[in-house]
Amino acid sequence: MGAATTTTRAPVLILLGPPGAGKGTQARMLAEAFGLVQLSTGDMLREAVAKGTEAGRAAKSVMEAGELVSDEIVLAILRDRLDAPDTGRGVILDGFPRTEAQAEALDDLLAARDGRVDAVIALEVEDDAMVARISGRYTCANCGEGYHDTNKVPAVAGVCDKCGGTEFDRRADDNASTVAARLAAYHDQTAPLIAYYDRRGVIQRVDAMQDIGAVATALNRIVESARR
Ligand code: AMP
Repeated sequence: MGAATTTTRAPVLILLGPPGAGKGTQARMLAEAFGLVQLSTGDMLREAVAKGTEAGRAAKSVMEAGELVSDEIVLAILRDRLDAPDTGRGVILDGFPRTEAQAEALDDLLAARDGRVDAVIALEVEDDAMVARISGRYTCANCGEGYHDTNKVPAVAGVCDKCGGTEFDRRADDNASTVAARLAAYHDQTAPLIAYYDRRGVIQRVDAMQDIGAVATALNRIVESARR
């Protein structure tokens, strides 16, 4: 045959950043634009809480306090999800890993599936702006599209732009007192992962104080080059 080979392995991308940095919004847009699967451990845990599973019952009070759920619970949930066939398209992890133990476990999980972390995007923001961002956000109860009281309102008030839904949810942990604990957990346990991935040469930093569209443009460029 002799033709040059190209990489067909599905990309594994990570969005790192504090609560309110825009990880969920951006991961959703990237997943749509590139046909990747968005894997949000926060969404998976909220689903487990809503269903009242054993993991959900254990996670509920921890999440309400704005602290991190145990590595054991989160890894069990993620491992199951990674085994679903759709992840073969490539994944964008949003909210995971959040501790060094999770990052190491992710390496092992991926290695066992012939994969590795291709790019880690650090969304850089100022803590002071995060409280306002988080307290104003809500999502469509039907399709999950994210909105914000001032930064991103639906074109027609009360109607989801994406699906026409008229019911919206606000997260139980999106309140000023929990946000402080979530920011502290980020700085203590998750921010050190930037250095961890920097040592491996896979970190890309993006100024996430810019508007949603400008951040999306920067991320699209990074994902384009990670896929090459
Ligand atoms: P998020 O939707 O990513 O903001 O996550 C909401 C909450 O779920 C966090 O405040 C944690 O309590 C929990 N959580 C989500 N992902 C993880 C993770 N990777 N490790 C530990 N706890 C997590």
